[in-house]
Amino acid sequence: MGAPYSGSCNCGAVTATIDAEPAWVRQCWCRQCQKAASGSATTNALFPSDAIKLTGEVRWNGYIAESGNTIEQGFCSNCGTQIFGRNSARLGALVVRLGFIDPPHDLRPSSTIWLDEAPDWAKDGGTVELFPRQPPPPPAS
Ligand SMILES: [Zn+2]
Ligand SMILES: [Zn+2]
Repeated sequence: MGAPYSGSCNCGAVTATIDAEPAWVRQCWCRQCQKAASGSATTNALFPSDAIKLTGEVRWNGYIAESGNTIEQGFCSNCGTQIFGRNSARLGALVVRLGFIDPPHDLRPSSTIWLDEAPDWAKDGGTVELFPRQPPPPPAS
């Protein structure tokens, strides 16, 4: 289940098709990604920009990274779904947030970066309770 990939935000205002395989897929735990991803890492696939056909309005917010490069996060102007990242040092390529890409696909991260900024619970191998969907309600008292 490779290219072309399709993508959509939560409200459907932004959609895309991506006709390329990513250069890499990786997770990023930097603080800016944690803010974008509600406390988790972002999971990102790097594609050539010209392989991405986009419909809808993406808004961008930028900041200066530790490297001195400008990093911009692109999101749906209506629902706020995180869609893209771009780096001033990597013109011609866009990071696509994996949650934006519609399943089924076989993309999965092969590395994790910025672990120094990850919370301890993300480094300890995972000791959380797992549920396939919503957990059952608490017992009535
Ligand atoms: Zn949206
Ligand atoms: Zn990051």
